[in-house]
Amino acid sequence: MPVCLTPNAIAAINGGDVDSKPLVQVVDVKLIGSAQERYRLLLSDAASSQNAMLATQLNDLVKSGRVRKGSVVQLIDYICSTVQNRKIIVVLNMETIVPECEIIGNPKMYPETDAVAQKVLPNINPGNIQRFNNDNINGRNPVQNTQNFHSAVQPPPRANAMQNMQSFRSAIQPPYQPPPNYRNRGPIMKNEAPARIIPIAALNPYQGRWAIKARVTAKGDLRRYNNARGDGKVFSFDLLDSDGGEIRVTCFNAVVDRFHDIIEVGKVYLISKGSLKPAQKNFNHLKNEWEIFLEATSTVDVSPEEDASIPQQQFSFRPISDIETAENNSIIDVIGVVVSVNPSVPILRKNGMETQRRILNLKDGSGRTVELTLWGEFCNREGQKLQEMIDSGFFPVLAVKAGKVSDFSGKSIGTISSTQLFINPDIPEACSLRSWFDFGGKDAASLSISREIMTGGSKNEIRKTVSQIKEEGLGRSDKPDWITVKATVSFIKTDPFCYTACPLMIGDRQCNKKVTRAGNTRWLCDRCNQEFEECDYRYLLQIQIQDHTGLTWVTAFQESGEEVLGFSAKELFMLKEQDDERFAETVRSKLFYQFLFRLKIKEETYGDEQRVKITVVKADKVNYSLESQYMLDLISKLS
Ligand SMILES: [Zn+2]
Repeated sequence: MPVCLTPNAIAAINGGDVDSKPLVQVVDVKLIGSAQERYRLLLSDAASSQNAMLATQLNDLVKSGRVRKGSVVQLIDYICSTVQNRKIIVVLNMETIVPECEIIGNPKMYPETDAVAQKVLPNINPGNIQRFNNDNINGRNPVQNTQNFHSAVQPPPRANAMQNMQSFRSAIQPPYQPPPNYRNRGPIMKNEAPARIIPIAALNPYQGRWAIKARVTAKGDLRRYNNARGDGKVFSFDLLDSDGGEIRVTCFNAVVDRFHDIIEVGKVYLISKGSLKPAQKNFNHLKNEWEIFLEATSTVDVSPEEDASIPQQQFSFRPISDIETAENNSIIDVIGVVVSVNPSVPILRKNGMETQRRILNLKDGSGRTVELTLWGEFCNREGQKLQEMIDSGFFPVLAVKAGKVSDFSGKSIGTISSTQLFINPDIPEACSLRSWFDFGGKDAASLSISREIMTGGSKNEIRKTVSQIKEEGLGRSDKPDWITVKATVSFIKTDPFCYTACPLMIGDRQCNKKVTRAGNTRWLCDRCNQEFEECDYRYLLQIQIQDHTGLTWVTAFQESGEEVLGFSAKELFMLKEQDDERFAETVRSKLFYQFLFRLKIKEETYGDEQRVKITVVKADKVNYSLESQYMLDLISKLS
């Protein structure tokens, strides 16, 4: 089959062509890069050949053999970059046309002189370039000529910013010109043609010069650090462009001083020059494998006009029901109606610093609610505002950008430093959620996916009697059994009923390990290896429950202990210290209430002994109206 490669394709690409989608042949493939796998291709148009770098997302093409030595490919997205004074083609997207073919022609390495490149530079009036350069060298005001230059290369306006790869090339914008006051600074700036504005998605470390136009969607706090190399400061901000590309930008030390104050969330900037390094995925959850590090020569300029084609924020919301199966520690966006807000409580961090924690509940149309834990500043800023709204009877919509999934007990979401909260945001998802909630959603049944429980509904619960636990050998299989028992509290052991717990925070959860006295007044945690004045008290409660079939012992920890006793463990502990009689009376008054106990049953080994451990994960006082409905349903199924 005769194959015709695109004549002069290599020269055209070197001249700035990004549009012609040429057919070229892969003459050689090499695996390079140690930290990250990368492929270098030698591309040929039958007369000339040139090195090309494959974007890492295309590695699979080579690995799967779809692109190999001899393959004829069509370049779809590509750009010519200068790396260490050598020109190289960066291939962002391509397609295999003929998987394998004999080498066509006798290609020679393409000469790398600028003179050749200039000749084929498309669409640009060389006169303007000439004048532009002269102006720079002479130090005259180039504004007039810049205007000519712009109009000479202005492509037709973009029809639709969201048309993805197809409009990718037409999306390539005219060269970005630094404003006049940044020019003529010194010899470095002279003779440099302006960098082209490219989509964020096209950024890669093999590009010499680039410019991007993007909106700041988040600005991190200025942080100071101290390591082996000395003191320093750092700050980061996140960018979003009109193609939906996002990337984090990080500045250190002197560069912080230059840019920290001019960066504002919501504004559009033209950014040029900086180095690209692999994103630090521990801290950076944007969908980009790279991160920009600004340098002394970088420029960051506020875009003179607002660009409505760049969204204010980009969310990829997941319904709350999806969080049930989301991986622990994964970062997600979620939107819901705030149905309740708990007060802010002080929490001691492991480093001895106090922080705040506030838990609220989000509900959406997926039939689920989830706990959102706010940490630190979020408690007083957004948390306080939300609390006031709820107190005044209004249920606000809350969008959470970059919340962290926790599976500590059930599934919940917590804030991290890069989380952003938006109260009643002006976005379509918020509007539809609002009308759903106002027209019935408010009263719709919903199950909580937090705290290993499903409250309020009988759909997912498996109702058993106390005697069935033994009769059916529950807890004996690999996985625990989860059942619900309607039973009455018949006895509560009070000696002991709680333990002295470590109050320090490890990450976003409390340590809770049992602590012991260190000296007369202080407590010591073995796990944290720290001492402190005050410890926390947590329930470890043995409760006897019974129904019409029998009785059993169950263990209740903190939250379920509070549900049964109506006090925190600390409150009861203090009461016991002060007045043992009143304490005993208080506990007695909590007997003989009927609860729906959600139980986790699992056999555990203690020494050589197998014991079935029954834990209360949730104790709900029986709601007799709901319970009657439940029993009526059972009866109707009988007939
Ligand atoms: Zn501890």
